[in-house]
Amino acid sequence: MTATGPLRDALAAATEDRLVYDLDGIGASCAELRRELPGVHVRFALKACPVDEVLRYLARRGIGVDAAGPEEIAQAVRAGVPVERIHYGNTVKSDRNIAHAHRSGVRDYATDSVEDVRAVAAHAPGARVFCRLATTGDGALWGLSDKFGCAPADAVDVLLAAWEAGLTPAGLSVHVGSQQMTADAWQDAFADLAQTLEALRRRGVVLDHVNLGGGLPARGYTDRYGTPLDPPLDKIFAVLRDGMQHLRDLHGGPLDFVVEPGRHLVAEHGAVRAHVVRTTRRRGPDGTYRRWLYLSAGRFNGLYETDALQYPLVFPTHPDADRVPARVAGPTCDSDDAFPAPVLVPADLRSGDPVWALASGAYAASYMTRGFNGFAPLPHTCVGGAR
Ligand SMILES: *Cc1c(COP(=O)(O)O)cnc(C)c1O
Repeated sequence: MTATGPLRDALAAATEDRLVYDLDGIGASCAELRRELPGVHVRFALKACPVDEVLRYLARRGIGVDAAGPEEIAQAVRAGVPVERIHYGNTVKSDRNIAHAHRSGVRDYATDSVEDVRAVAAHAPGARVFCRLATTGDGALWGLSDKFGCAPADAVDVLLAAWEAGLTPAGLSVHVGSQQMTADAWQDAFADLAQTLEALRRRGVVLDHVNLGGGLPARGYTDRYGTPLDPPLDKIFAVLRDGMQHLRDLHGGPLDFVVEPGRHLVAEHGAVRAHVVRTTRRRGPDGTYRRWLYLSAGRFNGLYETDALQYPLVFPTHPDADRVPARVAGPTCDSDDAFPAPVLVPADLRSGDPVWALASGAYAASYMTRGFNGFAPLPHTCVGGAR
């Protein structure tokens, strides 16, 4: 796996550590998504890349935003996203944050409980609400199960409560878990969506949209052990198209669809330029020697998701070097700040040599501490985006 094009050039030009994003690459992913899912509205899950340049670029392309609270709403507005395209997609919200969003002009709110519906009715009167259905998260690298969503039967009660409270029951939503690797997960979600739409219709509630959430897998990752993850995107898109058609047929009336990709749009178009801190050989608890490669970036400054994956590493100064297995870790005094499994690395790395961590454009800028152990958050550069 290697970097190409403008992303590569920007990584090669960097003399200090940073995050680099290729805006035109992000644009190509948006265009592909729109080709695969024609007519489906795209909302970017802001938390995956809260970078102003990226948001401004997406806003120019007519992409909406899934925001989790007042700060994300304000950032999206500043980036030029029209407020009617900003959705409050977090089921967890305080009275104060609901009121703030309402004052900002946000009209769509995710919910999954009667308590939250009452709060929305009180602080955002007249809002449109969409109820999130729970999923198992099976098949995803990060399942988002227990914390969110309700069972189909409970969704009916939640939306009826919304109706009684003077809100507009507008839709249903799901999130099948982040980096969902199976098409089956969406198949199961469609079954629950169909059942819930039917049950609602029997109670006289006709919704106008379904939000298929995030979870679309990104390309470019390798798994914990360094094997490329090869997400079955063609199959997933086919299941999404079939599922949407089936729901439309069942529903009769007009039904709009939304997707809320986060990592799918940005992961492979961002990379971290870091450097070698040190390589060592130390005897482990079992008495055998292990090689370690300590990088200047790790879980607390840009490479957070090593709990479930490896970022492919490029050693631009050692393209043809002999490789040896090493444990790779970040610079902090935290033993969780390490890659999950050994990586093959050049044998003769020196302190200061550049290292590129690819496929790190998603959740890098957001899962960055303010300076754990004094290691500063990475600055960023964006390339492209002239159009
Ligand atoms: C995080 C999130 C997303 C994006 O998830 P990805 O797995 O990055 O696509 C979409 N919708 C909601 C409500 C989210 O919380």
